Amino acid sequence: MLMNIDLLIDARWIVPVEPVGVVLENHAVAIDAGKIVALMPRAAAAEAFTPRVHRRLDRHVLIPGLINLHTHAAMSLLRGLADDLPLREWLENHIWPAEGRHVSAQFVYDGTRLAAAEMLRGGITCFNDMYFYPKAAADAAVAAGIRAAIGIVSFDFPTPYAADPDDYLLKGLAARDALRDEPLISFCLAPHAPYTVGDRNFARVLTLAEQIDAPIHVHIHETAHEIEESIKVHGVRPLARLHRLGLLSPGLIGVHAVHLTGDEIALLAAHGCSLAHCPTSNLKLASGIAPVSELLHAGVNVGLGTDGAASNNRLDLFQEMRLAALLAKGVSGRADVLGAHQALHMATLGGARALGLDAKTGSLLPGKAADLCAVAFDDLALSPCFDPVSHLVYVAGREHVSDVWVDGQARVEQRLLLGIDESELIKLAALWQNKICPRDVT
Ligand SMILES: [Zn+2]
Repeated sequence: MLMNIDLLIDARWIVPVEPVGVVLENHAVAIDAGKIVALMPRAAAAEAFTPRVHRRLDRHVLIPGLINLHTHAAMSLLRGLADDLPLREWLENHIWPAEGRHVSAQFVYDGTRLAAAEMLRGGITCFNDMYFYPKAAADAAVAAGIRAAIGIVSFDFPTPYAADPDDYLLKGLAARDALRDEPLISFCLAPHAPYTVGDRNFARVLTLAEQIDAPIHVHIHETAHEIEESIKVHGVRPLARLHRLGLLSPGLIGVHAVHLTGDEIALLAAHGCSLAHCPTSNLKLASGIAPVSELLHAGVNVGLGTDGAASNNRLDLFQEMRLAALLAKGVSGRADVLGAHQALHMATLGGARALGLDAKTGSLLPGKAADLCAVAFDDLALSPCFDPVSHLVYVAGREHVSDVWVDGQARVEQRLLLGIDESELIKLAALWQNKICPRDVT
């Protein structure tokens, strides 16, 4: 008796990410009601299922949708606004003033729609966001059909979005209440960074995170300057301060972690913390290079992030995978660290684990949501192909992404976004550019 299902995808190769290192050839993924039902050889799948839609991807590799573990999606509207500047000058003289003048719920909604479209087209099916107006960001993610972990952002200082630390948290919780029934949306507490969030604010964040069982997403040890300032003000390095405040746990997603001692790596591992490695942003802002091979060796869970489009300037996890692998080899002097499978793991299951979403996404296992990305290997630049995972990391780019599904719904088909008008988004970005420039560039 054949089982009726929504979708059957045949692929030349399938890389499920779990179990580690497996590459299935000429297999199929069966999908029904948004979930993966089975992975099996094509011939067996043809005998087991009657699909409503049958896709045949004969020259493609099918992987889990990529997970962008750290971004500020709406900053896509500030892409390229101020480049080639040190982080503090970039933030204090350019980004924060521009945000103060222009960021509104509409800015966040439009910017997040632009970012979501860019990410979906590049094979990203889930992003972890930290920005103002989280309700607007969540609404934009829902409209685009992309999975998102939305940050309940907080700072000590007022912004046009919120007046004080309590106001940030109340507004974030209201967003969470409003989006409670959206299956693609989850929430993290997102205190911006140790240098913008005080001890009392961190304590409130920790209490809330425990109450609503949400991860805590925070920038940490991005620059050497941040560490020097913390020693002056608090008497300890930022990570030690977070430890003292009780924030180190499996629910912590530390972003950047460029500057770490051996003891700090051991501390992160002992507490089961996760890190979001953002190699392009760290290089572009000259922050440094995170000790990723040491972190992985110590057993720390590491995912990959693009950071915002103002400091990258792409929301492109194919570039981050390649750069992460190359940097880890270059700085360690060992070509055998951070191989292609490990890079792909970071961009998928590593991110899902950090977000507490690994029962739902991050790998292709029966029972998980059908968050999938197909990469077309029909390009001469991808020929020949001895190892599809090596090609995914070292050769392919996001331009080779052909099809994307989120929760079993097609969002990109044969390189075209579905349900999103690209020309409308380009016009919208131009309207914002006219508002923002040229005064903010001076
Ligand atoms: Zn960031």
